[in-house]
Amino acid sequence: MNLLVLAGDGIGPEITAATLAVLRAASERFALGLRIEEASVGHAGLRERGSTIHADIVEKARKADGIVLGPTATFEFKDPGRGEINPSMTLRKSLDLFANIRPARTYAGFPLRSGEFDLVVARENTEGFYADRNMEAGNGEMLVTKDVAISLRRITRVCSERIARAAFDLAMTRRKHVTIVHKANVLKVTDGLFIDACRDVAKEFPSVVVDDVIVDAMMAHVVRNPQRFDVIVTTNMYGDILSDLTAELSGSLGLAASLNAGARHGMAQAAHGSAPDIAGRNLANPLSLILSAAMLLAWYGRRSKTNRFEAAAAAIDKAVEEAIAAKESTVDIGGRLGTRETGEAVAARLVR
Ligand code: NAD
Repeated sequence: MNLLVLAGDGIGPEITAATLAVLRAASERFALGLRIEEASVGHAGLRERGSTIHADIVEKARKADGIVLGPTATFEFKDPGRGEINPSMTLRKSLDLFANIRPARTYAGFPLRSGEFDLVVARENTEGFYADRNMEAGNGEMLVTKDVAISLRRITRVCSERIARAAFDLAMTRRKHVTIVHKANVLKVTDGLFIDACRDVAKEFPSVVVDDVIVDAMMAHVVRNPQRFDVIVTTNMYGDILSDLTAELSGSLGLAASLNAGARHGMAQAAHGSAPDIAGRNLANPLSLILSAAMLLAWYGRRSKTNRFEAAAAAIDKAVEEAIAAKESTVDIGGRLGTRETGEAVAARLVR
């Protein structure tokens, strides 16, 4: 498997190094034959080659069997004319990574606010309110006068149906329950279309129970009773916000794994950002990216019908569970190790 690894900014290089230690151990134990190529994105790319994501990196990503992307300092990238482009947006759009799958579950050994739960947010990843990626050309955000700004939100049946299908497929491997999250009480046309598309797809999955919840109420329901949810399907921005909440409810944003998947490409990417407040201090929790990388291996295994990749993913998940239970993890989830040592603790469990 050829992997393109892009470390990114802030805590990106630290959590990526820890993830690579785990991937190398998994490759050795399960004979995955991982071939890893690294390239610079974010500030390093800007410094070295004048762009936060150089065009040839997109081509490398297209040719790779999978991508691991660390977080980048996207808020600081304001001027595309100066090479300041959001690498995550570029890869998601160029490779049509339409499904952003963000699981959140609790782990034994860490005291929890909400009791045990296990859910997945399936977030549409290519349109919605994300005006920097929802147009074929140009940008969906406009400054009409210096005091009037407009942002366009695009919802299409085709994109809604494909994220719904990804959510229902996932539900079939889990507890067979899909919750549609929307704001159709106000955004009657766009979110109405999203609900219709999800309900149409639901007809193909008669054994799956379907309900829907309005996004603002969802914030209360998921805090009050996260056990109620299995797979949650929603549009881009709601999914982005909701999945940070569910990750934090599971213990920490540092557990926020995610896979960006399309018909042909897959990209592991933690749901959180570059965390400048803790960068460079060996404090960041690398489990978010380690678990994301496991999701990528499982995705690749399903696609290529090679069991050992799914076995490696399951072994990484188990090693993470054991490391958390043994408090061999970072302080945000009650452990006593640094970023590097947490990666080593997970990797060591794979080669035992
Ligand atoms: P953030 O997600 O980086 O951090 C929010 C809080 O969570 C911080 O307190 C941080 O220390 C903590 N946190 C995040 N990841 C953690 C980890 N692995 N372990 C322990 N604690 C962790 O959000 P922010 O500070 O608002 O954003 C920082 C930068 O990241 C901004 O430039 C933003 O635009 C960018 N961003 C990038 C991505 C991406 O590349 N995918 C996603 C979100 C934000």
